Amino acid sequence: LQSRLPSVGTTVFSVMSALAAEHGAVNLGQGFPDFACDPLLLDLVDAAMRAGHNQYPLMAGAPALRSAIATKIAALYGRQYDANAEITVTAGATQALTTAILCCVHPGDEVIIIEPAYDSYLPAVELAGGKAVAVAMQVGEQGYVVPWDAVAAAVSPRTRLIIVNSPHNPTGSILRAHDLDALAAIVGGTDILVLSDEVYEHMVYDGQRHESVSRHPVLAERAFVVSSFGKTYHVTGWKVGYVAAPAALMAEFRKVHQYNVFTVNTPMQHGIAGYMADPAPYLELAGFYQKKRDLFREGLTGTRFTLLPADGTYFQCVKYDAISSLAEAEFAKWLTAEIKVAAIPVSAFYRDGKESGVVRFCFAKQDATLRTALERLATI
Ligand code: PMP
Ligand code: GLN
Repeated sequence: LQSRLPSVGTTVFSVMSALAAEHGAVNLGQGFPDFACDPLLLDLVDAAMRAGHNQYPLMAGAPALRSAIATKIAALYGRQYDANAEITVTAGATQALTTAILCCVHPGDEVIIIEPAYDSYLPAVELAGGKAVAVAMQVGEQGYVVPWDAVAAAVSPRTRLIIVNSPHNPTGSILRAHDLDALAAIVGGTDILVLSDEVYEHMVYDGQRHESVSRHPVLAERAFVVSSFGKTYHVTGWKVGYVAAPAALMAEFRKVHQYNVFTVNTPMQHGIAGYMADPAPYLELAGFYQKKRDLFREGLTGTRFTLLPADGTYFQCVKYDAISSLAEAEFAKWLTAEIKVAAIPVSAFYRDGKESGVVRFCFAKQDATLRTALERLATI
């Protein structure tokens, strides 16, 4: 078979998790919590199953969940999406992202991807027959920032879509209001669409605000905004997410969605809908993770790692040039095998594997897990 994705292997997350298991390492690589979700959420799913919510839901998702999502977005970001026509429940954010790309990218269209970039964007663009145009983030005093002049310069008559991600995996940087304005200045008055990956929307630290694309009228009218309950409710294995978009875009999204997954498992949708009635779990998430970030950063202070800023997500990037001159993938493997702490090489988030001497740790772990990892990292 001639591969549709000849340059794709197994994702770095699977590779590093397998290596961590093989070496009995603390797994700070792949992003997922090592603690349980709220038992109330489990009870609500259990109750949904026992109440008979076990057959196909509506194609776009259980109405109760879509309306809870619309209410949340309106309360937090001030845009009222129509729960019937403008919100679709997806099998995690990954499916939302891929479906959004497939529904709007035609063969030969260009898609601007800002690197480092989450690893599912590029293969989805390639499957659609699109051409990814990469723009590299710049690293300065403030950490990673998007050079909007370079994004503007990358726009061509073939540009169909620009993909943004804030809070950003892997760098932990966030887009600020001026970033959204800069993006709006590029796409306003054009037919370029925006795909905004906001799966870490509730993990923004130090009192800063998540600048959702849905807040920004010029962007929201041309954007697919994607999020995931896996991140927000500590249930990455449930694979329930959603996309919000204006009705015309959503109609095209659903054409692909209905023949791709059709629907997403019913009891989880009802359980999550009930759980969303209380905003506290997502409103308190930033405080919860900020403590872990601070614990982890304090622990790394005094080691030979150099901390990069971490404004959002549950990732902390570090430079290791004072420790090793190994390439990132090799360094991550060495850390896993010898120091027994797994990390992710940031080079995996660049199409050309660009090296910047940075690895990513995930701090969505019990404090005891973080302390064990820190003790080991302090020995290097
Ligand atoms: N986008 C980003 C930036 C992510 O970090 C992740 C999770 N790894 C996803 C999308 C996918 O989310 P989900 O597990 O809900 O498919
Ligand atoms: N999003 C998670 C991460 O960046 C993992 C997702 C995956 O394993 N594909 O680590």
